[in-house]
Amino acid sequence: MDTLFDKIIRREIPAKIIYEDDQVIAFHDIAPQAPVHFLVVPKKAIATLADLAQEDVPLAGHILYTAQRLAKELGCEKGFRVVMNCNEDGGQTVYHIHLHVLGQRQMTWPPG
Ligand code: 5GP
Repeated sequence: MDTLFDKIIRREIPAKIIYEDDQVIAFHDIAPQAPVHFLVVPKKAIATLADLAQEDVPLAGHILYTAQRLAKELGCEKGFRVVMNCNEDGGQTVYHIHLHVLGQRQMTWPPG
């Protein structure tokens, strides 16, 4: 199913893009929950983390690697949080997997 993020990948909807390569795109969240809040999104349309296949394991690693690299570039050397909401109870609203990266404020635990 085509989602909002497919439209951002195809440049049909504008976004503040930070980084792109052949596998992923990263852009600032439209409703930031921290001074730094961006999303790392695979170009492959996988609906939820629960749909990740064995063949997607290298892609999942690339998403995490990209997240920490960009977090440091954006000034989150003191720390940051990554979150991937999965399905309804997980609070997912866009059904194309994406890793949230939040930083430059003190995080609390547990999350709400
Ligand atoms: P989820 O709730 O699925 O984990 O995260 C979806 C995220 O996408 C939310 O944090 C939301 O603010 C963000 N979002 C929704 N629509 C847009 C949009 O049009 N552009 C951008 N950049 N982010 C969006």
